[in-house]
Amino acid sequence: MKILVASNNAKKLKELERILERAGIHGIELVPLRDVEPYEEPVEDGRTFADNALLKARAGVQATGLPTVADDSGITIEELGGMPGVLSARWSGEHGNDRANNDLVLAQMSHAGEGRRNAAFVSVCALVTPEGHETVSEGRWNGELLTEPRGEGGFGYDPLFKPEGQDCSAAELTPEAKDAVSHRGKALAGLVSAIAALSPQS
Ligand code: IMP
Repeated sequence: MKILVASNNAKKLKELERILERAGIHGIELVPLRDVEPYEEPVEDGRTFADNALLKARAGVQATGLPTVADDSGITIEELGGMPGVLSARWSGEHGNDRANNDLVLAQMSHAGEGRRNAAFVSVCALVTPEGHETVSEGRWNGELLTEPRGEGGFGYDPLFKPEGQDCSAAELTPEAKDAVSHRGKALAGLVSAIAALSPQS
């Protein structure tokens, strides 16, 4: 059974592969976007992570006829009413400009002292089947926003995020340490039983 992973990020497919392997699920071939006939990807104009994940997964099903997994993620900051949220990648106005996004968030949070800096990375993964079954799974990684960037690793808001129970930023964790606790792994893990139900062995 083939499942399309509607993402251009090869790391996400690998992570899902590892999770399925650990769960003992066999007979599923995860297909990357680059291996299917190119199709127009939808505009991510949903108001929630789930809306966007479903938009992308439904588009994958429609274009390829394969069950499709898609995800959407970002950082949510309590003091900013939950934003940047779905606008995380383009918070400063320019899509994917991590430096400008981080600078803007720091400026907006400059008034917020200790106790008012709660933040979480959130990932929502969706599995949609050609029969129209939809499963949505959310993963959260709680922490707080630092007052200045720390660390060289990771991407996006990692240098500004101090995970709960850690004394360093997410950008100071090794990729393996981050994968083991982060929002994305938790959200993907929540799809395992729905994926298992598609496996020819089930
Ligand atoms: P996407 O879901 O891959 O499109 O990511 C949306 C945006 O959320 C990214 O561009 C980052 O700004 C932010 N983001 C999502 N996950 C992470 C993470 O693990 N670390 C840092 N930033 C993240």
